[in-house]
Amino acid sequence: MSYRPRIADLELAYGNKEDGLYEFKMNLVDGTKCRVFYTRSPEWKMTNISRLQKTPCPVCRKDFICKCMDQWASDLHQQMIDDQWMEKAVTE
Ligand SMILES: [Zn+2]
Repeated sequence: MSYRPRIADLELAYGNKEDGLYEFKMNLVDGTKCRVFYTRSPEWKMTNISRLQKTPCPVCRKDFICKCMDQWASDLHQQMIDDQWMEKAVTE
């Protein structure tokens, strides 16, 4: 498996501090855009990730919905934690 997504940018789409529910728009280095959902209580936990259908999938090349990003959910989550993407997006 040669493809490995890397996060280029993260943008807060929705955040509710009281409920601990967050939605982010994630841009990957290769131009792929994803929507990710998180809960925070207080640990960050990814609940869902899906590719936005603006660009073809880098894995299967489909330009409609697919589940390819699911296999990198834990990898991407680790990048989110290591590089503190959520903290940066939430405080912006
Ligand atoms: Zn795919």
